[in-house]
Amino acid sequence: MFEKILIANRGEVALRIQRTCRELGIKTVVVHSEADREAKYVKLADESVCIGPAPPSQSYLNIPAIISAAEVTDAEAIHPGWGFLAENADFAERVEQSGFVFIGPKAETIRLLGDKVNGKNAMKKAGLPVVPGMDGVLPEEPNEIVKVARSIGYPVIIKSAGGGGGRGMRVVHTEAALMTAVQMTRTEAQAAFGNPAVYMEKFLEYPRHIEFQVLADKYRHAIHLGERDCSLQRRHQKVIEEAPAPHLHARSRLRIAERCAEACRKIGYEGAGTFEFLYEDGEFYFIEINTRLQVEHPVTEMITSIDIVQLQIRIAAGERLPFKQRDVQFRGHAIECRINAEDPYRFTPSPGRITSYHMPGGPGIRVDSHAYNGYFVPPHYDSLIGKIIACGDTREQAIARLNIALSETVIEGIKTNIPLHQELLRDAAFLRGGASIHYLEQKLAKLAREE
Ligand code: ADP
Repeated sequence: MFEKILIANRGEVALRIQRTCRELGIKTVVVHSEADREAKYVKLADESVCIGPAPPSQSYLNIPAIISAAEVTDAEAIHPGWGFLAENADFAERVEQSGFVFIGPKAETIRLLGDKVNGKNAMKKAGLPVVPGMDGVLPEEPNEIVKVARSIGYPVIIKSAGGGGGRGMRVVHTEAALMTAVQMTRTEAQAAFGNPAVYMEKFLEYPRHIEFQVLADKYRHAIHLGERDCSLQRRHQKVIEEAPAPHLHARSRLRIAERCAEACRKIGYEGAGTFEFLYEDGEFYFIEINTRLQVEHPVTEMITSIDIVQLQIRIAAGERLPFKQRDVQFRGHAIECRINAEDPYRFTPSPGRITSYHMPGGPGIRVDSHAYNGYFVPPHYDSLIGKIIACGDTREQAIARLNIALSETVIEGIKTNIPLHQELLRDAAFLRGGASIHYLEQKLAKLAREE
């Protein structure tokens, strides 16, 4: 096992990784920007290194600075967390070339799956059902593009091959709008991801977002930890997630989960990963793989009692998966609310100092947050300040506990989206379970009209 791990991230995930390291007796090095110098998790680390000013490009995305920090502190491995460099194949490669272990899949795997067109083709070959569409990137020739769209059938969605974070996609309903949409997505993709390649698939009108958690070791053993339903999204960003997904056919869920694990074995996947699907009319359609820890991993941890971060570390250290698929037990239901520092209905970021802070507790409640009384939420990063997760024997019990937890929570000095979560937990469609990925946007539009 490693003696010292460097955490190349900030905020909540830096604290999350640190907690598991401490449990395993591993020393931690936290790198931080000038804006995060005072954060408590930085002080809790065994060592900390300031790697630059607040803007991410000069700190959390600064590969040479992170590698130097690992060198001067004698860390053995680097955990990238999520966001920032977590899915950057060049970073993974540099880490390994510099003699450190990257806690995540091999650089070549990240590269293959990071290109969504290649990833989709690889998974189609591995036997997963994919969204109907063309196999490669779109050609230049407008006539050819029109032909592709006609063969798929409108509405279609134009997506960036190098995209991520819900950006660089455009839905097209008519042929008249097609070429402009393709051009705009290309320009946007070039600017945001440095890669103008786009592809086209069928736009599903009312799918759910269902994703499967997998773990694979370096010896081609792979298991799944079931699925999560992350359909409540705004601008393709998840807001509430739960496990298991309500109202799924037990048999089709198991079939897809097993195929995900099988795909890991086939491509020699190593570490934790998430296979994302759209689910409509009882059918699953693969969209992409995230080659990292997910923000919503706690709901899976709550119903399986498995520490996913611990297994990421043990796999990276060369250990075998310590159990088999049949040893994974699923128990109860878990739901997570992402707490963002933002206006609950206008969604404008609300950075600043937290003047009063009280977190909930009680049976089945877990809080993952790096915030505290007096914490200053810096304006430079995303607005996630933590998550409140509730687990119960049933979905109803988890919802009841989450409601109580949110009512106990106090965060003053900044705005948070807690009022929106409270509204959603009372929403009839949410309570029924199984709302589509468009539900939240539609609800928000309706609320805005009523205002
Ligand atoms: P990213 O890597 O940017 O997160 P994804 O391919 O995972 O991109 O898509 C993000 C979200 O966009 C999905 O969760 C879904 O809400 C929506 N989406 C993507 N592809 C389609 C599609 N073919 N039909 C309908 N919605 C889609």
